[in-house]
Amino acid sequence: MSQDCIFCKIARKEAPATVVYEDEDVLAFRDINPIAPVHVLVIPKKHVEKLSDFDPEAERDLWAKLLRAVQKVAELTGVKDSGYRVVINEGPHGQQTVFHLHLHVIGGRQLRWTM
Ligand code: IMP
Repeated sequence: MSQDCIFCKIARKEAPATVVYEDEDVLAFRDINPIAPVHVLVIPKKHVEKLSDFDPEAERDLWAKLLRAVQKVAELTGVKDSGYRVVINEGPHGQQTVFHLHLHVIGGRQLRWTM
């Protein structure tokens, strides 16, 4: 856990969030500035700064839980059948702005592919 990290504060319930799904290790909550009708962030509760700091082999169970949470979010928000996008932004060129690993789940409208 990081004291100043906003997503750690949300995970500790010290900052408000609209939670969509939660288990022991993973939390999913609505993005504060959504770019689509469904825009949910899935995070590990433990602090991981960015994808390149995450070891998917060592953290096999956590990675599986994160992907399972994405699937559950899609079901719970009603976008499972219409489709959705999952995004991880990494570093400056990836426009990562919050340095706590998160998977964006975006859907509820027709998405386009832009760079
Ligand atoms: P990034 O650009 O991939 O790092 O995405 C960070 C996301 O976190 C952005 O879409 C922000 O709108 C979102 N965000 C920042 N602060 C909060 C918050 O306190 N609650 C929910 N979402 C947040």
